Amino acid sequence: MAEKKNYYEILCVDKKATPDQIKSAYRKLAMKYHPDRNQGDEAAAEKFKEINEANEVLSDEQKRAAYDYELEHPGMGGFGGGFGGFEGGFGGFEDIFSSIFGGGFGGATRSAQSEVGEDIQKEMTLSFMDAAKGCTKTLSYMRNEPCQACKSTGAKDGVRFSSCSRCGGKGIIQTVQNTMFGRTIRQSACPDCSGTGRTIDEKCPECKGKGWQRKETEVTFTIPAGVDEKSYIKKRGYGQAAQRGGMPGDLIVTFRIEPHKLFLRKGFDLLVDLPISFRLAALGGTVKVPTLDDTFDFTIPEGTQSGQVFTIRGKGIKSARGGTGNLILKVFVEVPTKITRDQKKKIEALYDDVELKQYDKMKRYSENVESFYGKKPFSKQ
Ligand SMILES: [Zn+2]
Ligand SMILES: [Zn+2]
Repeated sequence: MAEKKNYYEILCVDKKATPDQIKSAYRKLAMKYHPDRNQGDEAAAEKFKEINEANEVLSDEQKRAAYDYELEHPGMGGFGGGFGGFEGGFGGFEDIFSSIFGGGFGGATRSAQSEVGEDIQKEMTLSFMDAAKGCTKTLSYMRNEPCQACKSTGAKDGVRFSSCSRCGGKGIIQTVQNTMFGRTIRQSACPDCSGTGRTIDEKCPECKGKGWQRKETEVTFTIPAGVDEKSYIKKRGYGQAAQRGGMPGDLIVTFRIEPHKLFLRKGFDLLVDLPISFRLAALGGTVKVPTLDDTFDFTIPEGTQSGQVFTIRGKGIKSARGGTGNLILKVFVEVPTKITRDQKKKIEALYDDVELKQYDKMKRYSENVESFYGKKPFSKQ
């Protein structure tokens, strides 16, 4: 948002200057800084531009009223067109809030006196991959959209209004009460202008003076990689329009994430159950293992046990805050369940050759059972 210029200071006039005073101040300055008199002087050219901009607003009664209002109510975000506030559509900010990204600010820039529209809550379901890798999504929803035709003032073209005469454009009136405890001064919203500080001279034809229109709003936002079930995104200014031209509320989108058939998430780590055969477990070999983008060849070492865990660093989910999780493989040795008679004989023959001392855990188990009970637990391995 551009720094708001003080047109009165630029023209060196008082805030209460009459149109004649403004005119004469402008003439004097315009002559002094005119490009014809200051050839090649860039600073003068810039000053000349500024003087003209100030004059354009202050010499027009309605533009001046709108400008005065904005000067007195900074942060109301009403008028666009160089006075600050919204430019190029509403809600230019995008804040990402989430339990993992750690949120914490919100609404801090709003002025206390301005009325704020309601927030809108939406839920969005993301595929596992979209959540893990990040994506761009578009959401359409109905809301009371701030009227762009009148910059949500409710006045035609955003300028057909005057400063409220009752409260002098402040939106607040003070009432003095004499009570038994002394004099008290109460401040309340001006009833003539409902606290807006302005009265509409001609209603905006688009919104009939409401300052907002019921419309379908489409919003596109970028979802960072690694959003989780508890994550949400806040689009500032995409909530309901405020009554009487205040700041619109926010759109808050929370995410639901679909499960994946291969991956389970634990923070930024990806967990994969990897079933392998006895042969691969005993002899070792390569197996294709999935990542978010593709598969890669993982070498199962000789003598891998069921339940053994392999951690592959940096092949998990990228965190928007930096760093990447790991891929965690948990091996299961799958035992065949439908075996032919011929295969059974081969297995028998194979295991006849294997002695108990070749097994680590079975040997320890066998020794413990034997020492406590005097019985051998395995007749055959
Ligand atoms: Zn008023
Ligand atoms: Zn309007």
